[in-house]
Amino acid sequence: MRLSSYFLPTLKEDPAEAQIVSHRLMLRAGMVRQASAGIYSWLPMGLRVLRNVEQIVREEQNEAGCQEILMPTIQSADLWRESGRYDGYGQEMLRIVDRHDRDMLYGPTNEELITDIFRNSVRSYRDLPKLLYHIQWKFRDEVRPRFGVMRGREFLMKDSYSFDLDHAAARRSYNKMFVAYLRTFRRMGLKAIPMQADAGPIGGDLSHEFIIQADTGESEIYCDTEFLNFDTSNTEYGDDKHIKNIVDYYTSLYACTDEKHEQEVFEREVPEIRRYVGRGIEVGHIFYFGTKYSEKMNAAVTGPDGSDIVVEMGSYGIGVSRLVGAIIEAYHDDAGIVWPDSVAPFAVGIINLRSGDTACDIACEDLYAKIQAASIDVLYDDRDERAGAKFADMDLIGVPWQLIVGPRGSKSGIVEVKRRATGEREEFSLEAALSRVLS
Ligand code: ATP
Ligand code: MG
Repeated sequence: MRLSSYFLPTLKEDPAEAQIVSHRLMLRAGMVRQASAGIYSWLPMGLRVLRNVEQIVREEQNEAGCQEILMPTIQSADLWRESGRYDGYGQEMLRIVDRHDRDMLYGPTNEELITDIFRNSVRSYRDLPKLLYHIQWKFRDEVRPRFGVMRGREFLMKDSYSFDLDHAAARRSYNKMFVAYLRTFRRMGLKAIPMQADAGPIGGDLSHEFIIQADTGESEIYCDTEFLNFDTSNTEYGDDKHIKNIVDYYTSLYACTDEKHEQEVFEREVPEIRRYVGRGIEVGHIFYFGTKYSEKMNAAVTGPDGSDIVVEMGSYGIGVSRLVGAIIEAYHDDAGIVWPDSVAPFAVGIINLRSGDTACDIACEDLYAKIQAASIDVLYDDRDERAGAKFADMDLIGVPWQLIVGPRGSKSGIVEVKRRATGEREEFSLEAALSRVLS
């Protein structure tokens, strides 16, 4: 992509409405624009990151044996009356009446709809277990939408649902999703800590929130700081026993959100210097709730002996759009965003320090063509701008590798390679620079 023709409306000044750094940087870097309170349009750069985050989530769901579907955003109120949640959900639900006077709603979550799909399609115990997910926009009419995409009213969520024959099997599905979450967040460079959590309006008796530490987070958390020293590489799936071992390891230390926190236990289990009391951002939440929906909505399969068995269910959410903000909270500095490679909108940026200078233009075009040919996302700053402005913009939008081409170097075939995260700069030949950023 050539920056001269790219739609990247960056802002020089800090927008007054943004209270936290991720919101500020997303507006300044031209990633999103507010459409109305808590509702955002995603501009090209923001959308690239959102898609990258979504893709990591998708790959890890698929890897865990979860199958992708796509349910609609608009649902019928009737299903929610069956589960009993239509009245209970309260003002967070956006209710809509269609032209035939039918009550509809913009889905805040999908337990009812997936249970309906399941009961109409699955009849036998032999078809279990089933794990299904979709990545779809949700609407919750939050009292206080704020912090940009972190607490929006319309937001993108990945939600999965598991269907099993009995409690033990349901636990296996829960454990599998638990591990999928560890893998997902790690790939984004995040240290998400699984914490015992309250099940809230979803219901159920087993639940973990995946939370990353951040002073700007809205969750109150209590945990053992030993978590941050965990060896997070041991998340290969293996058999059920191995998966359970991983879950046991990650739940062996104290970690609770405020609803589950018990000060006495905290003080007993965690040595004083390891007690973290602070705030965090909830990026995922998993629930086991048994037959809460399947019983009310009559989702049953025929068992081996011919009798009906009401299925055991769980649901598993990830805040895909919130993650974009959360990653920025974890990765930024005074100059702007510092994207981890895995989610970066462009892997490489090329800065032409003197557009119009023949040697610079030729060197940059050559690099640009070769990087594109390698199917690597590259942003080429070919604008007729001051060098300082180009450096500032490339740092603001956080491109991890930057190739800097100036008049002096380009004559002798030298380019400077800069790593955004460390600020390190080193000179290479064109070929060596390419192999550095393409490896
Ligand atoms: P919160 O406690 O932050 O309000 P929740 O517990 O109501 O979230 P869940 O029902 O667990 O949310 O939804 C699954 C995931 O969706 C959450 O872990 C979070 O990452 C994300 N999410 C929930 N509400 C919002 C929102 N208003 N804006 C952006 N992401 C959200
Ligand atoms: Mg939650």
